[in-house]
Amino acid sequence: MKQKNSKGEALKFSGKWDLAPAPESTDHIEIKKEYQLFINGKFYKPSSGKYFPSINPANEKHLSMIAEANEKDVDRAVKAARKAFDGTWSKISAKERGKYIYRIARLIQEKARELAVIESLDGGKPIREARDIDVPIAAAHFFYYAGWTDKLKYAFPNQSPKAVGVAGQVIPWNFPLMMAAWKIAPALATGNTVVLKPAETTSLTALKLAEIIQEADLPPGVVNIVTGAGATGAAIVNHSDVDKIAFTGSTGVGKVIMKAIAGTEKKSTMELGGKAANIIFEDAPLDQAVEGVINGIYFNQGHVCCAGSRLFIQESVYDVVLRKLKDRIQALVLGDPLDKNTDIGAINSKEQLATINKYLKIGQKEGADMFQLSCDIPKKGFWCPPTLFTNVSQSHAIAKEEIFGPVLAVQTFRTIDEVITKANNTPFGLSAGVWTDKGSKIFNLTSQMRAGVVWANTYNKFDPTSPFGGYKESGHGREGGLHGLLPYLNI
Ligand code: ADP
Repeated sequence: MKQKNSKGEALKFSGKWDLAPAPESTDHIEIKKEYQLFINGKFYKPSSGKYFPSINPANEKHLSMIAEANEKDVDRAVKAARKAFDGTWSKISAKERGKYIYRIARLIQEKARELAVIESLDGGKPIREARDIDVPIAAAHFFYYAGWTDKLKYAFPNQSPKAVGVAGQVIPWNFPLMMAAWKIAPALATGNTVVLKPAETTSLTALKLAEIIQEADLPPGVVNIVTGAGATGAAIVNHSDVDKIAFTGSTGVGKVIMKAIAGTEKKSTMELGGKAANIIFEDAPLDQAVEGVINGIYFNQGHVCCAGSRLFIQESVYDVVLRKLKDRIQALVLGDPLDKNTDIGAINSKEQLATINKYLKIGQKEGADMFQLSCDIPKKGFWCPPTLFTNVSQSHAIAKEEIFGPVLAVQTFRTIDEVITKANNTPFGLSAGVWTDKGSKIFNLTSQMRAGVVWANTYNKFDPTSPFGGYKESGHGREGGLHGLLPYLNI
């Protein structure tokens, strides 16, 4: 039977359905004109009086003004966190701590629609992703770690785990609420208090989370959220009364932070860059693999440290996989992130778009062939169509360096040993994907890949019970699961 539109006309399929717009409503959300710093359970104006704007990267419209915290504000937040650690949070029973964390989880669920829309507006990601991934995973992390609070002795038998103290946490812009949850939930569950800084382009959902924390009635100072750019982050990192730094962001800034805390007693976890290999063997279910590749690099505009940005296709199926991949790219819908049909949203910032465009130029200059989704690009905002490079060699910058955009570098291989060598030929080691029908190949490959997470016949699957983190320049320490408790404990 032919599909029809609302007017009864037959829908034509020319690689892409002509879909009616389905924008998510913004009526139910509240974005304040100005946001303050969340310190000691209350919202305070920044001591400098300075604010910076947050804009919607899909149309460059102004959303709100965000307070800029300086060293004095950070000091105030750390003092509040210390006082809460010594005075209340380390004194109350583990069960009570758990109750607060469950409360945060439930409030996130209650406000899920509002949080998803704000995440999409502030960061440019498709509402589908914010709604189905960011917000549910954020809630799931609070639920999961709430369950651990009174079971730490079982998690580490015959030992006496003790909270580290005040955790300084700095997060990036790609999964703002989810990253805040990954950081705050295990810290609270283990009895620590927190000073967290969101990225300067995506502060809004972290500030909404501050409101949730206030509503959940957490004792003042247990969670403090300060906003600002790199200097604010550096003030947290360098504060002498912070016991632990948890950072997610670029490898460059990660190295700066590691140098800054070298020689101090600060513990650290670093979740840094990546250049993940996605590997398709000839015996793989090819359509499923192509869908996994698309999900791994293009959804969320490639703004994922674990994005499968290098694709290795076994030579015997190269032509067919490439054809399927290009057909699938042509069917992707780029546009208004709030539209439920949208696959590809906006690039998070002008600066990030400039970085991506720089790599598109380098890729072509180095001799690779570029293929892009041909589509109308919105006039305002920051956009990059899904891009695929073929004729790529190991030495090309687009195959070596993290781009953090919807750019895929395709290479080929003949044998499993060859692809393991090629896939491991990178300073990064965060994640990888393998597509094959043979379990033995999966085990062979996963045991030899130098990557923290290896997905088999799937990609970008996250669960609070499973640890996530990298090897080599992708960082150290794990977030999620029982492993995610360790960095917040002295054992
Ligand atoms: P990305 O490339 O993902 O934006 P960055 O590493 O630049 O990653 O930023 C990640 C987070 O680190 C952001 O919250 C940013 O403000 C913060 N940041 C940037 N520079 C520093 C620094 N020198 N010290 C601490 N935090 C920093």
